[in-house]
Parts: sequence; structure tokens; C-alpha cells
Amino acid sequence: MSTTLEFIRTTILNNIPLEAGVTRIEFEGPEIAIYVKNPAVIVEKTDVIRNIAKTIKKRVVIRTDPAFRKDKRETIEIIKNIIPKEANIKEIKFDDILGEVVILAEKTGLAIGKGGVNRRKILAETGWRAVIERAPPRESKIVKQILNQLLLENEYRLNFLRRTGERIHRTLVFKDSYVRITALGGFMEVGRSAILVETPESKVIMDLGINLGANNPLTAYPRLDIHDFPIEELDAVIVTHAHLDHTGLVPLLFKYGYEGPVYMTKPTRDLTILMLQDYLGVVQREGRTPPYGEREVRKMLLHTITLKYNEVTDIAPDIRLTFYNAGHILGSAMAHLHIGEGLHNIVYTGDFKYARTRLLERANDKFPRVETLIMETTYGGQDQPPREEAEAQLIEVITRTISRGGKVLIPVLSVGRGQEIMLVIANAIRKKILPEIPVYIEGLIDEVTAIHTQYPELLSREVMMAIYNDQDPFSAEFFKRVEGREARKDIVEGEPCVIMATSGMLTGGPAVDYLKMLAPDPRNSLVFVSYQVEGTLGRKIKDGAREIPMVGENGRIEILKINLEVRSIEGFSGHSDRGQLMDFLRNIEPKPRRIILNHGEPSNTRAFYNKLMSKRTRSRLGLPEDLEVYAPRIMESLRLV
Ligand SMILES: [Zn+2]
Repeated sequence: MSTTLEFIRTTILNNIPLEAGVTRIEFEGPEIAIYVKNPAVIVEKTDVIRNIAKTIKKRVVIRTDPAFRKDKRETIEIIKNIIPKEANIKEIKFDDILGEVVILAEKTGLAIGKGGVNRRKILAETGWRAVIERAPPRESKIVKQILNQLLLENEYRLNFLRRTGERIHRTLVFKDSYVRITALGGFMEVGRSAILVETPESKVIMDLGINLGANNPLTAYPRLDIHDFPIEELDAVIVTHAHLDHTGLVPLLFKYGYEGPVYMTKPTRDLTILMLQDYLGVVQREGRTPPYGEREVRKMLLHTITLKYNEVTDIAPDIRLTFYNAGHILGSAMAHLHIGEGLHNIVYTGDFKYARTRLLERANDKFPRVETLIMETTYGGQDQPPREEAEAQLIEVITRTISRGGKVLIPVLSVGRGQEIMLVIANAIRKKILPEIPVYIEGLIDEVTAIHTQYPELLSREVMMAIYNDQDPFSAEFFKRVEGREARKDIVEGEPCVIMATSGMLTGGPAVDYLKMLAPDPRNSLVFVSYQVEGTLGRKIKDGAREIPMVGENGRIEILKINLEVRSIEGFSGHSDRGQLMDFLRNIEPKPRRIILNHGEPSNTRAFYNKLMSKRTRSRLGLPEDLEVYAPRIMESLRLV
């Protein structure tokens, strides 16, 4: 696997037509960039690049030597001639360092052209590499901010990519003889997910979250204190999805000297930056000290390398990473690690949903190889009611509340459940099962929704087609965006309605603000639609607490009486329930020899562990008879090879 630069150079020079005029060959993170004088020569011969990529087992990008790129004004003219008007170009921006031209278009398919023909034409005729991004009808502020940031700091970024590339392709010192994982967080508990993977050669972290329900650093953060955590030796950080219990502590690494890459999908990047900024805002407003600041979040962005699903990428001399759809939230991924030349394969599911939802397709279940499976067990001991039942319950409680003149507060995680519930309500109103009442959406959820419409190809087929046909269900008129705190009071005093607000577990944010105003009136309802972590206010109310001490306006503690109707609807979860976890194991190919359980409260993880210990279950699921099953505790290490 250690493909040396020497071998790569020779292969490229032996295969590329001389007329292309190769000037430089560089690592750019996990990719190889070939700088040429005359890209037109190669662009017409797509098989040449394909063969090189296959031989050196790398993704290859062709860039034009800066001296041979056309003038920008001329380039814009040429682009406008090549890309059809109907694609509706919104903006064209240049990245001088990478030699890329970023084209924001409404119809990316038309802009890219059949088989990427327009992109090739632009490169051949102008020397600029076209990067075509979707400009959604509703602009996402965060996506714009991210693109600008990356353009602004492109020189820093190119240097970072080259350094990372060299590090990935360093010569192997040790021949692999062991693979070990350490449970740093999120084992026998939900929150602060973190797994360290070590070989003699490399160290990789999978997820690095925070537990929002805990106050003490020893329980809120992963146990980075255990063995003089080797920040400088770390090769890569992998982030499976944008929830804070998987990402929340990643920026801290940059505060303590980490200079390496963070791998995630593109939507995970956008959502993560948004969630981290929001988290810092909430912590500061509550007068607490955050573990890191905006600066570290920015640095994390500059060190993020985005990958697509099913794309194999070298992340260390002896580790290859591939992401697969996890069906949990937009951009969520299962991580497949191929270690050594066929030495060992790990699949880490992250949070996953093994069933279709209105928003997303079902998680992947086919892998090239897998010996060790690390899987979540949030609902390892519980089955969830069918979705239709959950939807009917939600519609029923909304209808009942509205008819008695009340308002429905639905606390939602901004990412995932928020959009799913919006789709359920939109569907019910369209089918006239629900009257057309106003549904108030707080700012953060709206911004997250805009990010969803940026990636229609990653959503469920129905939603994707609707967005492509200009019938974006999230843009329905009854969804009303709330701006500013003052508006909340008017909403609470106004007509019957539904209010969707963060945070999903009432740990802070507008949902708590609304709760304070709505709780005393028994005509109102509070509806939980997602998992409530132990220790959160949401969990306390769900478990029956009806008198909640709250800090009032003058700093005095006041008791908030929960008089409104409290309902908890199961079945909307973005996690697989017990049956779905079993279905996943029945269908996964190939079958793992070892299963390690994480991301579940002890009762759930233990229940699933016991299930897997049963011979009958194993044979029913087609799992090996001598399957090894582990449910490690935090700080425990496990040798896999
Ligand atoms: Zn999650």
C-alpha cells in the first residue's frame, strides 16, 4: 500500500502524452495533482487518467500550470458559452492557488453536462478546473461563509494539503503486526463518542464528541487523558456525522497542536461548522467557558477534507478509509477502515438507521470486507413502533391541541428530526389530514433545511425529485421562519400553531424559552420526537418531573409548573431500533467475525449483547458460531489483530 512518490512519478510520466507538458506532480491530501501546460491534450483522453489512477490507486486531478491559464474575464465569457443558460449560473469565483473556478448554478446537472463534458471543455479551453456547486433557491448563509473562508485562505490550505499528502505517503517503518482500538467515549453510554485506532505505524480517531447532558469534564468529554494522548502522532480524525456528541470536541485538538486532516462528507462539514458555532454561542450566552473558541473551529474547517460515499481514500501509510451512507442524518456515514495490505477491516457504523425515512434512504449493508464491526446500540433493547403509527400519533396530538385552542411545542435537534417532522406535517397538510395551521421554524432549523436543499442527491428519492421539480416541500407557505426573540412572545400569544425549536433535549436554546411561556397553560402540548439523554431537562420532564426549578429573570430560582400535556412519540428516531439492528446483521455482507457494541445506555447495550450471545440468534442471523462479542467500558482497549 505504501505507493511511493517515486513509483507514482514514473507511472505518470510513462503514461501521460508528452504534449501535455507535465510541469509538476504534487500530493494534495490524499489526491495526486498533475500540473500541465496543455490540459486539452489529456482532457480528450479520459482513459489515460483512469489508467494512471488505477495503477497508482489514487485519485488524480489535472491542474493547469498557472502561467498557462486564460485571463479571468475571458474565462467567464467562455464558461457562459459552454454552460447552457437554463443551468442558471448565480456566481463565478476564482481560486488562483488551486487553479479552480467555482461555478454556483441552480441546475448543476445541466451545468456539468453529460458525463462531465462541460467541465472538461472548460478545463481544455481556459486552463481553469471547474468546480460546480449547487446554488439552492434559498441561500444558506453557512455554506456561503464556508466557501468564502476556503477561498480566502486557499494558500494555507494548499500547503496543508501538500504536508498531509507527504505524511500519508511516508515510508512504512513498521510492518503491521497489531491493530488496537481504545474506547475513549460513547461506550456503555450515549454521548461523547470517540474511538482511537492504533497500528504500530498510525493513529486515527473516529469521532470526538461531547456529552451535552454532563457538566463535569470527566464525563462530558472523551478520556483523552488516558495515555498521554498522542496529539502530534495522530494521522487523521474521522467524523461520521454532524451531531455534537460525535464532533463537539474536534476543534479542541487544534488548540493543543494538531495539524492534521479531519475527514467527513461535504454536508457533514457544512452542518458541523454550523452546529459548532451555535454550540459556542449557547455556551457563551449561558456564561460558561467553552473548551475552545471560534479560532479553532475555523482551523478545523481549513483542515477538513471532504469525501464522497463509496470513495476509497488513503488516510495513513497503512489505512484506507471509505464512507458509506448511514441513513441517520444528512451526510451521515459509516466508516470502513482497510488496514495493512488485507491485514484487517473495521466497519464503524456511527449512528445509523436501517430503514427508509421520509428524508433519507436506508443505511448501507454491503462492504468489500469486514472482520470487526463496531455498531451502535442506542435502541439495542427496545423496538420502536412503526413509523405510520408514530406519524398518526403526532397528527392526533396536534389536532387535539389545536381544537382546544392550544399550541404544540416540538423540541427538535436542528439536524435530522427537524426536517423529518417538517416532511410529516407538510404531507399531512397536503393530504388535508391536518388543517393548514402556521408551523413556526426557528432560525437554526431553517438554516439547516437550506443546507439539505443544497444536496438533494443525498436525500430520499421522493424529496430529491420534488426539489429537482421545483416543489421543495420545505418551502411550503405554512412554514414560517422566526427571526429574533421578540417574535416568540407574539407567537405564544397568537393563534393555535405548531412551534419547532432547538434544542431537542431542552438543554438550552429557543425551545426552553418557549417552554417557559407555554408550560403553565394546560391547553398546550409538549411533544418529544427524539431520544432524550439522561441528565437533560427533556429526559426529566419525559420521566415525569412536573415542577422544574429555573433561573428567573433577576437570577432568582423560580419553579416552573409543567401544566401542559406532555407526550413522547417513539418511532421517529434516526437510530435503528432492535429489530432494525438485527435486520442489519442479517443482511450485512460479508459477515463480521467480531462485533463490538457502543453508543447505548448500559441496559440497551447489555440487552443487545445478550441477544448476540445466544446461539439461536447467531444462526438465525447467519453470523459465525464462534462470533466474538464485546461491550467494552470507557478506557478499555481491545486488540483486534
Ligand atoms: Zn447522531
